[in-house]
Amino acid sequence: MARDEFTLHFQPQIDARTNRIVGAEALLRWQHPQLGPQSPGEFIKILEDSGLILEVGTWILDEACRSFSELLREGLIDPEDFSLCVNISPRQFLQSDFAERVRRSLLHHHVPYSMLKLEVTEGIVIQNLEDTIDKMHHLIALGVSFAMDDFGTGYSSLTHLKRLPVDTLKIDQSFVRDAIHDPNDAEIVRAIVAMAHSLGLTVVAEGVEKLAQLRFLQTLDCHLYQGYLHSRPVPLAQFRVLLQETPKTT
Ligand code: C2E
Ligand code: CA
Ligand code: CA
Repeated sequence: MARDEFTLHFQPQIDARTNRIVGAEALLRWQHPQLGPQSPGEFIKILEDSGLILEVGTWILDEACRSFSELLREGLIDPEDFSLCVNISPRQFLQSDFAERVRRSLLHHHVPYSMLKLEVTEGIVIQNLEDTIDKMHHLIALGVSFAMDDFGTGYSSLTHLKRLPVDTLKIDQSFVRDAIHDPNDAEIVRAIVAMAHSLGLTVVAEGVEKLAQLRFLQTLDCHLYQGYLHSRPVPLAQFRVLLQETPKTT
């Protein structure tokens, strides 16, 4: 962070019915001057274990808001109708001033609360479920929303799902990847989508690489997706170009 080697990339979230970009997930990138690009799966684990994720996490929130304030100023996104999704690690969520940090970044960059969606995993409930739920409600009262990431892996406890105030489920990419070959994975995806619908949750499929996967999801009425099929995560300048190319709605 001191050497300015972190950047954020953005992966579009697509509504397959209109082919419009309806949101973006911010993903951390680390380009080491000698060793080249580092795998987030590895270095983020180290940031989490060492506690450095607190400082870096604050930077991520701020940088994501700064980037999106540019897109808002340029009129490329509709503040009423666009989600900026930021991954939050369980450790970050434990900070007593977490909500205040979120507020500060949004206010400082004039990004509306309602644009921010925080992606959390079930790991956030490990410490104190009540405290976690309180923190979430505090942010929800301001307009921020929450998505449950990697749904279907880990415990995927239905108790957590019932108690945590999330409005979106993200189906883990492992199921999406295998759904077109493995009938078991197809059934899992079908069950998650059906459950999300009956609970009134938005559902987003992750890791969509092939048209056949998208077609299968569409038969289930799962229209929101992310994946290489549409775009890899890209730097802000490229994300801007994707927005400029996207079909405009009324
Ligand atoms: P995640 O939150 O599940 O992020 C989705 C991952 O899937 C990203 O990997 C993305 O590049 C990748 N992906 C997207 N579309 C496809 C596809 O079609 N096929 C395949 N094979 N992969 C696809 P990435 O960027 O390597 O990040 C890995 C994990 O690291 C993330 O999983 C998340 O848990 C963590 N991470 C990344 N950025 C942040 C961050 O800013 N903060 C925190 N706390 N964690 C982060
Ligand atoms: Ca995520
Ligand atoms: Ca995920």
